[in-house]
Amino acid sequence: MATTTDERPLFIVLLGPPGAGKGTQAKRLAEALGLPHISTGDIFREHLKKQTPLGRLAQQYMDRGALVPDEVTIEMVRERLSRDDARRGAILDGFPRTLAQAEAFAAMLAERGARLIVPYIRVPEEVLVERLSGRWICRAHGHIFHEKYNPPKQPGVCDYDGSELYQREDDKPETIQHRIRVYEEETAPLIEYYRNQGVLVEIDGNRPMDEVTWALIDAVQDALNQKSTASEDA
Ligand code: AMP
Repeated sequence: MATTTDERPLFIVLLGPPGAGKGTQAKRLAEALGLPHISTGDIFREHLKKQTPLGRLAQQYMDRGALVPDEVTIEMVRERLSRDDARRGAILDGFPRTLAQAEAFAAMLAERGARLIVPYIRVPEEVLVERLSGRWICRAHGHIFHEKYNPPKQPGVCDYDGSELYQREDDKPETIQHRIRVYEEETAPLIEYYRNQGVLVEIDGNRPMDEVTWALIDAVQDALNQKSTASEDA
């Protein structure tokens, strides 16, 4: 994909409710742009699997569909972004999720002189519940399938690496409803926050996965073109 000659790091935050397709689209965008995909949910699940102190702490919140405290999450992201592969930027999925996280993240971006684009993937609530409750994830690399919309060739087996597919603990119907409420209360205010900064791009996420990917790539390209024109004008 064509990029601008702008050398500043590029950070893309995928905003949207649980089940909007952030994980799937973040992986595709990361590949298209050659940037790392950073999912705070994946990092917490990785810690949980290894039973680290952070994993055990996060589990108390994740099992209920609640948010892990801001200080813990912000420090974890700060450490992740300090690694070499995030020098040119990253695709963030699941962070920031609160205003406090967004403000801490803004300071990290300012330190780096980075550019930010925030695609907001919109999906109606009734679709979210159906998507999350039919979701299956591969143990090895987190590839995401859906029993109806994106079934694996062989049930229970990942098409890409042959590993076992599992359903997330927090994809149970009661927890899903709670996660959607938490999203509305804590994360939805970030839509206005980023709209006011002029970095929000709205994407219709209620259509086939490939169409959403193309819309995202177009939106990122447009935003980059506009920014490079704006900086040339400045
Ligand atoms: P996800 O995979 O993005 O749906 O995240 C799964 C769970 O991890 C969430 O329900 C939270 O408990 C926790 N989590 C992930 N990202 C964050 C975040 N930015 N802030 C707080 N908790 C988070």
